[in-house]
Amino acid sequence: MNKLEIVTHPDERLEQVCDKVSVFDKELHGQLDQLFDLMMEHDGIGIAAPQAGILKRVAIVYLDDESGVIEMINPEIQMISGEETDVEGCLSFPGVFGEVTRTDQIVLSAQDRNGKTFVIEADGYLSRAIQHEADHLDGVLFTSKVSRYVTEEELKEMEEEA
Ligand SMILES: [Zn+2]
Repeated sequence: MNKLEIVTHPDERLEQVCDKVSVFDKELHGQLDQLFDLMMEHDGIGIAAPQAGILKRVAIVYLDDESGVIEMINPEIQMISGEETDVEGCLSFPGVFGEVTRTDQIVLSAQDRNGKTFVIEADGYLSRAIQHEADHLDGVLFTSKVSRYVTEEELKEMEEEA
């Protein structure tokens, strides 16, 4: 397989509803490994397959070692409760950051790379990252949900205060 590259906006591949995965084979495993490498290379905390031009319902979230690497195939999200507003960025929008309001507590059910179904509960930034990546699989981009854009300078100040 050729080396994957990040698809940046605007690109029609970012706005498609991706196909459900039904075959959990070596090809899928190879794509997951490549997506992970691509995410790490770009200092991302999540990546969805369409961001590498693969129109499949596949995404990865890796916030920190506590939550671990979450590979989600065919994810379904149940919104439970709460609402939070926080700043998001996206590998497909370099240098663009904005505040997005999302549900805080969610239940994610998805399949792992072998097709086994798992269910996890999430809140806080993990919940946010999962929702952001799952949106990509429906061609929904975070910019359609931004209530206020934040400059890189503002972001740096916010991080210093935190
Ligand atoms: Zn994104």
